[in-house]
Amino acid sequence: MSSSSYLLYLVGIMSTATVILLAMVLLSKIQELKRIKLTLESLKKSLDEMDEQAKLIMRTDIELNKTQENLDKKITALYSLQRLARLISTTLQEEEIFRRIDLSHLEDIGFEKALGFLWRDKENKFSLSLAVGYAENETKSIESFLDTHQEFFLDLIKSEKTFSSLSLASSRIPKEDIMRIFKVNSFVIAGLLPKEGSKGFLFVGTERTDTLLTEGDEELITILSNQLGQALENARLFEKTWNAQQDLEKKVEERTHELTLALEEVKKISKRKTDFISSVSHELRTPLTSIKGYASILLAEKLGPLQPEIRERLEKINRHSDELVHMVNDLLDISRIESGKVAMKQEDQNLKKIVQDVLDLLSVQLKEKNIELSVDIPPDAYAVFVDLNQIVRVFINLIGNAIKFTPYQGKISILAHKIERRVQVDITDTGCGIPKEAQELIFEEFYRVDNPVNQQVKGAGLGLALVKHIIEAHGGKIWVKSSPGMGATFSFTLPRTEENYGDKNIGR
Ligand code: ADP
Repeated sequence: MSSSSYLLYLVGIMSTATVILLAMVLLSKIQELKRIKLTLESLKKSLDEMDEQAKLIMRTDIELNKTQENLDKKITALYSLQRLARLISTTLQEEEIFRRIDLSHLEDIGFEKALGFLWRDKENKFSLSLAVGYAENETKSIESFLDTHQEFFLDLIKSEKTFSSLSLASSRIPKEDIMRIFKVNSFVIAGLLPKEGSKGFLFVGTERTDTLLTEGDEELITILSNQLGQALENARLFEKTWNAQQDLEKKVEERTHELTLALEEVKKISKRKTDFISSVSHELRTPLTSIKGYASILLAEKLGPLQPEIRERLEKINRHSDELVHMVNDLLDISRIESGKVAMKQEDQNLKKIVQDVLDLLSVQLKEKNIELSVDIPPDAYAVFVDLNQIVRVFINLIGNAIKFTPYQGKISILAHKIERRVQVDITDTGCGIPKEAQELIFEEFYRVDNPVNQQVKGAGLGLALVKHIIEAHGGKIWVKSSPGMGATFSFTLPRTEENYGDKNIGR
């Protein structure tokens, strides 16, 4: 092979090799390009996905904001409802309850119109109690609408259900009619159902169309109507109680007036009686004194000696005159104490000594009947602030009676004990006792129980009346406890000494 053909051959080989090399490089570039394209495609896909997610996030954010806004509205509405509930529950006047519902409260709840109607049995119609957002002529036409559809609204109240523009069920009056008549685009009607008095309903509505009525709104209005119902019930119960109290007060006043008149009459009669007793006693005393005087002169035989039978009769005259003088004196004392003419000369006295002196005075009678006597007066009951002479008369009468009505070998006990500013004395006997119906009467003048002892023993029935007057003139009380055949306990109170320190009149 010549050198030139060898060269040609070499060039040919090299060119071929170069072409092959170039082809290989091209191939690898094409493959690389394919890879880049694939990467680009997957990147685009991821970008699209991210874009989708971003959109979703934005949508969720908007939703969240809306929910937040709604929640804020609900909270405002609930706060407003709470304020309103407090307002209407703090008045007890029916009219005032409705007056307290105003536009600002309604707007917070999402409405600007409200009406309240109560059923009046007497007039047989609904009467308007609340109107917010309506002119007078508008309420008039709504009232006449109610007049023609009374049954529907009465049934609604009875059903205790809420009726609203949300309600699905078809009703006798289409909700569209209500919207037209009441001039609203959404509404809720809820019953006012107090347990006391007439029932009714609350209507709330709005003309707005931008916000939709929700079930939550319905619930809010139901809560409001329940609170209104409760407030109405409270107001009516209060009115009922108030009226009853007024009636009672009127009756008490009338009765008091009647009693005052009766008391005045009793006082007049009592004064007439006292005056009468007082003047009769005075009239009796003069002739009695001369009868007694003459009897004494005759008995002293100053006018000559006496035949035994004449002496006997004169002694009888003398004894009876004594009894009469005694009776007249008691009567005079009663009337004088009653009319306040006799003042109690109260001084510090020793109760134990008073009782002992009286028992000494009555010792003969006690011995005659062989009566077992017990006296228990503790030292803290010694000091009493009394008129000595008058209290001695009290003890003589009460212990005297106890002896008189107690049979042979009976028992009498005299007890005393301190009760705050007073001393209580109890005189108990084992005598015939006093029937229940006579226990008040024995303290009245001339009253005597018809019992065997009284049939034998004389008495005027004045002792206890006198005793009662004396005790009351000391500011005390007297009463008796007894059962027939079981003896009797006479109890009375006297002022203690301590309470009168610094004020001598307290005991009266
Ligand atoms: P008198 O003893 O003169 O009848 P009083 O006024 O002292 O009058 O008593 C009125 C009546 O009360 C008595 O007649 C008697 O029926 C009844 N009475 C009073 N004390 C007793 C007593 N201790 N036990 C039973 N009855 C009594």
